[in-house]
Amino acid sequence: MAYVDEVIELVVKKNPGEIEFHQAVKEVLESLRPIVDAHEEVYRREALLERLVEPERQIKFRVPWIDDKGQVQVNTGYRVQFNSAIGPYKGGLRFRRSVYIGIIKFLGFEQIFKNSLTGLPIGGGKGGSDFDPKGKSDREIMSFCKSFMTELCKHIGADVDVPAGDIGVGGREIGYLFGQYKNIKGAFEGCLTGKGLEFGGSLVRTEATGYGLLYLLDEMLRHNGHEISGKTVTVSGSGNVAIYAIEKAHQLGAKVVTVSDSNGWVYDPDGIDVAALKEIKEQKRQRLTEYKKYRPNSEYHEDGTVWSIPCHIALPCATQNELHLADAQALVDNGCIAVAEGANMPTTLDATKYLQQHGILFAPGKAANAGGVATSALEMSQNSERLSWSFEKVDRRLQRIMAGIFQKMADAAERYGVPGDYVAGANIAGFEKVANAMLAQGI
Ligand code: NDP
Repeated sequence: MAYVDEVIELVVKKNPGEIEFHQAVKEVLESLRPIVDAHEEVYRREALLERLVEPERQIKFRVPWIDDKGQVQVNTGYRVQFNSAIGPYKGGLRFRRSVYIGIIKFLGFEQIFKNSLTGLPIGGGKGGSDFDPKGKSDREIMSFCKSFMTELCKHIGADVDVPAGDIGVGGREIGYLFGQYKNIKGAFEGCLTGKGLEFGGSLVRTEATGYGLLYLLDEMLRHNGHEISGKTVTVSGSGNVAIYAIEKAHQLGAKVVTVSDSNGWVYDPDGIDVAALKEIKEQKRQRLTEYKKYRPNSEYHEDGTVWSIPCHIALPCATQNELHLADAQALVDNGCIAVAEGANMPTTLDATKYLQQHGILFAPGKAANAGGVATSALEMSQNSERLSWSFEKVDRRLQRIMAGIFQKMADAAERYGVPGDYVAGANIAGFEKVANAMLAQGI
């Protein structure tokens, strides 16, 4: 049996029920076949793939907190420190009811290659909890965050592991988490990124994932003889990534016509009103049903998906496995030319294959949404030098990093005989650096 297949089988057997983790491992290892075949003897002797799919450390902990009625609640916290071959563990925290170890491991595994692609010295990790922030008061969120950090602070630090936000964790949560770390450790250090600008945060971090997605998309389109300006774009999600992807798409001359949340989706034929979206989501923390009050011409739907709306470019920015085969078929039938993943693993494996087979330019999340973690690494640099860079400086660096990521994935795809396959290109380019570092550091 091929080495790759043996390791996929091992992962399924050793991690029963963790279907998202299986999916992420399959997606990466399948596309590493050309490079694994070329180095099979060394990789097998060094058990390189077996080591790659086994986290260096998994931490699971109890998070008790008190709700507004005085009732004690208990959630489960996780931190998976997956791979530190090229730098301290780095990756976000996700607070959502559906969180379990399989989701954290899939995200942590993807993070290894994403972080490597940025060219910056950061390893892969991820964490979170099955806590659901929706409908909770500020005091309840604070109570939960303080309890979560009371345990997590034993395992992280500026040179050890530096978490950030993800679904359900934004500036408010990072503030509470940082405050608790500082209180317990008695040290003001860059133990988290995505911090407020008043206490060590970086300009552009809030916008970085969405802006970075558009910078990479722009590179991919131009490389293939297209341009963003004048294109119609569909976006899913209405959180941090979606909002700033839409903002940058509009700045670059495209028109975004959809957004969604877990209850429904909006079609606005005149183009999404970003100011209204920010007010609803960032300030009032409301649902998308409110959008029609700002834009009477728009439609709100509870059934179906945004992918039924004809577009040139689709940007899934909500969550994993949200773009299925039927959606991919609809996109192709409606004349879509490009898909770039703002979310992590939003496209199912069969949908990805279908899109690629039908000539759609496809930028995988680990490349396309790497702008967030890249800017987090720039926040770490600023914290280390105790300086703050200007918006323009960080934005320029972000643009350079995203252009570099496109170049790396396009080059790797060429070198390994699959030109234009950016899924394989991103995986191979991300893997090469980590594999070489692991081999150099020995057992
Ligand atoms: P947010 O919590 O800010 O927003 C998430 C958005 O997705 C919300 O609109 C949410 O709707 C929607 N959503 C979540 N789950 C589902 C679901 N099951 N079905 C439909 N809609 C859903 O998160 P982010 O914008 O930060 O993250 C979005 C994606 O981007 C995630 O995959 C994340 O891992 C990825 N990512 C984020 C980065 C960052 O810097 N923030 C960096 C790289 C990747 P609702 O309000 O109903 O929950």
